[in-house]
Amino acid sequence: MLQPETAQPERLAVTPREPLIDGFGRRHTYLRVSVTERCNLRCAYCMPPEGVDLKPRAELLTYEEIARVVRLFAEMGVNKVRFTGGEPLVRKDLETAIAAASQTPGVECVAITTNGVRLKRKARSLRAAGVNSINISLDTLRPDRFERITRRKDFHAVLEGIEAALNAGFHNVKLNVVVMGGVNDDEALDFIDFVKDRSMEVRFIEYMPFQSNGWSEGRFTPWRETRAAIERRYTLVPHPQNAGPSEVAKTFRIADSPASVGFITSISEHFCDGCNRLRVQADGSFKTCLFHAPETTLRDAMRAGASDDELERMIRTALLLKKRQHAPIEELQQLSNQTMTLIGG
Ligand code: SF4
Repeated sequence: MLQPETAQPERLAVTPREPLIDGFGRRHTYLRVSVTERCNLRCAYCMPPEGVDLKPRAELLTYEEIARVVRLFAEMGVNKVRFTGGEPLVRKDLETAIAAASQTPGVECVAITTNGVRLKRKARSLRAAGVNSINISLDTLRPDRFERITRRKDFHAVLEGIEAALNAGFHNVKLNVVVMGGVNDDEALDFIDFVKDRSMEVRFIEYMPFQSNGWSEGRFTPWRETRAAIERRYTLVPHPQNAGPSEVAKTFRIADSPASVGFITSISEHFCDGCNRLRVQADGSFKTCLFHAPETTLRDAMRAGASDDELERMIRTALLLKKRQHAPIEELQQLSNQTMTLIGG
């Protein structure tokens, strides 16, 4: 069922239900599922210093409900599922949800985004459960800065987690780095040095404004500046993967290296035209766009006994409300969006 995640032309399986196409003709094949609002770090651009009001466990989707949601979306053409959080590895028995997703007909790729703190212990069981692509969030290679950004002392645990992921046989290990001006924007070359002899990818993510995450124009670094800093020492070769209609990252091979570098340019050069992403949050809220408030709650409908057809109608109704693209940055800053930890990235 599961294949290594490479840049294959999107093979759209015949699905029992109609595909998920929005009002702009975009076909949605990628579902991000948040399994918890909890996190063992307090990253400044994601979680307000005071933390967030966590919902009681009973208000979060059970693994059975998550499995049902994944199955239903797969019946509508979703072939990639990414587990997120908060920090997904803090949820007990996460492998249960992963195994269920990886055995769901139509699902070809199961991915996870983690902060890596618990990865040393979990890498092998995640692999065995069916994860075939892993993104590890690490915004600095300096322990002191790590502590300032995350308000925790787990820098070395994350490095050990990265090694464990590589040793566990993941073919696709990516580092996610949120570039913040005046915080870590001087480390681009250090990250390239870190990955250049490994079969890994480092992804530089443009800083996005979310509730209480300290975003400002002065702290925003457009991807082209990061790229220019790298090209002062390295040659970057455009990656064929870039051609994919729904590719989020602009990816480049690092010449004479097994590694690659990607840029996620949501603010300076959005990629909404090819958007294929949908989100279900830990409390079952359904979100058609990162920057939209949740459109509906699948949890309440499921617990009220809704049939799959009724859920499908709710999902399609919400999808037809999806806008062509996210609002301009001036508006995004004013948007009362949720914190990233509740959305799940
Ligand atoms: S901002 Fe919204 S529409 Fe644009 S790529 Fe992200 S999720 Fe898709």
